[in-house]
Amino acid sequence: MKIQHVIGGVETDSADGATYDDIDPYTRQSYATVARASAADVDLAVAAARRAFDEGPWPRMGFAERGRLLHKFADLMEEHAAELGEAEGHDMGKPIAAASSHDVPRSAQNFRFFADHARLAVAEALPSDIGMHTYTRYESAGVVAAIAPWNFPLMLATWKIAPALAWGNTVVLKPSEDTPRSAAIIGRLALEAGIPEGVLNVVLGFGDAGAVLTRDPRVDRITFTGSSLTGRAIAGAGAANLTPVSLELGGKGSNLVFDDANLDVAVDWSIRAAFSNTGQVCLAGSRLYVQQGVYDEFLSRFVSAAEAMTLGDPSDPSTSIGPLASERHYTKVIGYLEPEKTGGAKVLTGGLGEDWFVRPTVLTDVPQDAPVQREEVFGPVVTVTPFASEEDGVRLANDTPYGLSAMVFSDGLHRAHRVAGALRSGNVWVNCFFVRDLRAPFGGVGDSGWGREGGTFSREFFTEPKTVSMRIDG
Ligand code: NAD
Repeated sequence: MKIQHVIGGVETDSADGATYDDIDPYTRQSYATVARASAADVDLAVAAARRAFDEGPWPRMGFAERGRLLHKFADLMEEHAAELGEAEGHDMGKPIAAASSHDVPRSAQNFRFFADHARLAVAEALPSDIGMHTYTRYESAGVVAAIAPWNFPLMLATWKIAPALAWGNTVVLKPSEDTPRSAAIIGRLALEAGIPEGVLNVVLGFGDAGAVLTRDPRVDRITFTGSSLTGRAIAGAGAANLTPVSLELGGKGSNLVFDDANLDVAVDWSIRAAFSNTGQVCLAGSRLYVQQGVYDEFLSRFVSAAEAMTLGDPSDPSTSIGPLASERHYTKVIGYLEPEKTGGAKVLTGGLGEDWFVRPTVLTDVPQDAPVQREEVFGPVVTVTPFASEEDGVRLANDTPYGLSAMVFSDGLHRAHRVAGALRSGNVWVNCFFVRDLRAPFGGVGDSGWGREGGTFSREFFTEPKTVSMRIDG
């Protein structure tokens, strides 16, 4: 199979013909040849997006017509759900059950939500008593560079593209080198939906292509999801041209289970928080803190539930844990199971599986300063630590350079609100995990990033808000 860029409405090879192999992490064999972008391909894609913005119909056609095309795009994604789900499975080992019940429907929903949100949005009118009328306009920003990671390839790409397009921008998407296929498919589907050429361009390649894209002065916005390390480089590239940058970066989510929690609920959601997507989730609840009164009971139920998870072929609908996404990533994750990284912790269950599999792994007696407790592992590895009081729990949860997600399990109404307020994190889930309202701000504090996207927060980023002040009396 051959996977190509989509530039200016054309599916194309690289200008210099360069390619790389797309490795399926389950078979560990190459299953496709992918066009590999150089600066020349990025240049063509930005030029196409620029032309489509400056001269094309897209920014000028109005919300209703754009919304109609974006809904059609979503329809086509739903019709191609099997192809998209299979793409994620081959590219990064995502179990088909997760891709078809979650990633693909949510990706289509991103387009439906932002199309409707933009069409129905209101702007401000600011009457004054000095004979003036001031109002705001939210105008398309221009060319958006969208750079996505490999863990939710389709869902995170569409989380960026959908609001960018709904607000009349044009886009150059660069997916992760590990997961090119779903991006190439949606580049093609956008054209089939009737979205004009050059509005959504997809360039496939590595970090060097991403770096060229972020340095291009013709780009008006950079939206990035990925590691904190790359985020710092992109912030620098944006600064050079004063291009606004939105950064959704890494995480080391905490999960506080209090004595007054419903343990059935706490175990069920904590398992999902630790091991969904084989733990390759920025929001993962990878640091579990359990209050002393329920520690033993919780831990024994949690370990049994972890051991009941089904590892296997991502294309088998009964698989809940696939392989790690690539050999490079597998090597990184197993490095965190070495004693110098765990601080000599006890391994209650889990450890290495076959090939690129790591079994759901539960560590206890982990020093708070051990690398596995402080750094983002991004695999099916969770640390479990007891705490005494609410203050202790909050202190441990906040003891991290990251601040993307946190969870609280408690049936105490006042405690839940109090702790949610005290946690230093962009998202807090109480008695649940991963439930998303697309109107709500999404993002993190500290090393987890800059800015927020979602609902009106996406509008702020993907538009140029303008103030018009007009005298009413002559
Ligand atoms: P990564 O930073 O290695 O790569 C992300 C993307 O950036 C890829 O497309 C890559 O090719 C590109 N890139 C690499 N170097 C670049 C450069 N110098 N300039 C421009 N682009 C460059 O991250 P990853 O390993 O693909 O993804 C995993 C990371 O993403 C984890 O840290 C995870 O927490 C984070 N993540 C965050 C969120 C969130 O919403 N906050 C969501 C998912 C993943």
